[in-house]
Amino acid sequence: MSEEKSLNFIEEIVEEHLKSGKYTSITTRFPPEPNGYLHIGHAKSICLNFGLAKKYGGKTNLRFDDTNPTTEETEYVESIKEDVRWLGFEWAQELYASNYFEQLYGFAMKLIEKGLAYVDDSSSEEIAQQKGTPTTPGVRNAFAERTPEDNAKIFREMREGKYEDGSKVVRAKIDMSSPNMLLRDPIIYRIKHAHHHRTGDDWCIYPMYDFAHGQSDSIENITHSICTLEFVPHRDLYDWCIENLEIFPSHQYEFARLNMTYTVMSKRKLLQLVNEKHVNGWDDPRMSTISGMRRRGYPAEAIREFCDRIGIAKRENLIDVGLLEFCVREQLNKIALRRMVVFDPLKVVITNYTGEEELLTSENNPEDPNGGHREVPFSKELYIEREDFMEVAPKKYFRLSPGQMVRLKSAYIIKCEEVVKDAEGNITEVRCTYIPESKSGSDTSGINVKGTLHWVSISHAATAEVRLYDRLFKVEDVANAEGDFKEHINDDSLHVVGHAYAEPALLNDKVDDRYQFIRKGYFILDKESTSDKLVFNRTVTLKDGWAKEVKKG
Ligand code: ATP
Ligand code: MG
Repeated sequence: MSEEKSLNFIEEIVEEHLKSGKYTSITTRFPPEPNGYLHIGHAKSICLNFGLAKKYGGKTNLRFDDTNPTTEETEYVESIKEDVRWLGFEWAQELYASNYFEQLYGFAMKLIEKGLAYVDDSSSEEIAQQKGTPTTPGVRNAFAERTPEDNAKIFREMREGKYEDGSKVVRAKIDMSSPNMLLRDPIIYRIKHAHHHRTGDDWCIYPMYDFAHGQSDSIENITHSICTLEFVPHRDLYDWCIENLEIFPSHQYEFARLNMTYTVMSKRKLLQLVNEKHVNGWDDPRMSTISGMRRRGYPAEAIREFCDRIGIAKRENLIDVGLLEFCVREQLNKIALRRMVVFDPLKVVITNYTGEEELLTSENNPEDPNGGHREVPFSKELYIEREDFMEVAPKKYFRLSPGQMVRLKSAYIIKCEEVVKDAEGNITEVRCTYIPESKSGSDTSGINVKGTLHWVSISHAATAEVRLYDRLFKVEDVANAEGDFKEHINDDSLHVVGHAYAEPALLNDKVDDRYQFIRKGYFILDKESTSDKLVFNRTVTLKDGWAKEVKKG
């Protein structure tokens, strides 16, 4: 990571502004609407906004854009705060657009007084019709001729609750023939008799997003208001409001939103997955949410690294989820504790092992010189993975088979002497001998074996449930795939191993620990784990199995 990274286009703008003295310091904001949990796309915006302020010694506000009372909830506010913190960022101030309702009302009144806004009693259909089309200009109706005094009076009455939902709106008086449809007298206030999660029943009129966002930026002296490309057409209105209200000139800059393969990222769609029980909640480990990824075991650092690697673009593209998984593996390889867990057990009896049970030691992480060791009990009866044994093995089969030797990880070399079967011919047990001089770390046997297997001592093993996750969708570009996005759900995205056998060190480990189950993948303890029953989530496989699967067809 020593190579100098070139600046992204927003960093270039910021450096130019600081150099020219346009600003002496910068302020950014992350402005989520609290109508759902944050997803990996938001992580990109968070890393960008907080990252800029960090790099240039400025500050970042966390502002909840909570102008839509019917979809917003405190649960979402709390989850958003938790996620931003977990990602490793601290906000300068926690703010709410709803804190500014009084000021925003004042701003609308100011436009009314300047003759730049009016109350319109038309229905939403009429308003839509009068708007024209991108190629034909719109027409202004008679309500636009109301005097500022009349408008001010009606607007006050709207606030007092005199009118029904939808009976009136306030519109900015801009330009009904503008090529930018958003400037054709956009609605800035509407009536909504709805309870708000913060302001309760104080208000029955609410500002539209476009009348709240820029002004909130301005109130907070935001220098660089960064958003995604779909807001490009909104920029003219953003600037118009600031200019005509004569308030702090915040500016909007747009970058390409993150789209990622095999997943969806709109809160509306994520909410459907939750409500229709395609997943088990917002933090289901298969979700693209930050809380889902956290529960799945993705380290925050890996997510930040991913956001850094994809960079900031001006054009939309689709990022391979494989890159995110690559960042996760890279990070986990450095920190994960190595442990042994057998998913599908086959009993091995070491017939010549007469010793007492014995504690072997094994490295926690060969990549980490300070990672320390753990004790692993060895005994006469062990489990290995059923798939690691073959009665009739092909050439070059380096796992266990009759007459063949393998090493048991951190323990001894064993040789398969006999296969025991039940009446139906199923293999129930494999009888082996061990080579006492072959103990790992002090091996004087001189025997070389090619295969090393993971194993657990039966009497010491803890039972565990292991949840193996796969992609939630079967197609790469879910948002652009034909039909409803839910038709592309992968019905096989969760596979549960009900009774796995785990080495006992896993009983003492902690919730936040990351594990590599040797030869199996990376895992984390799930929140549903209890002292009676361990539950693990597979964070990611050791290698990318999906790419191969796709190629096979
Ligand atoms: P969604 O469409 O998922 O509901 P949103 O844009 O409505 O997302 P907001 O809560 O309004 O969600 O977004 C907060 C900030 O995060 C905004 O500045 C928005 O531009 C940014 N953001 C949202 N989705 C992405 C994404 N996929 N990539 C990058 N930034 C995003
Ligand atoms: Mg939004």
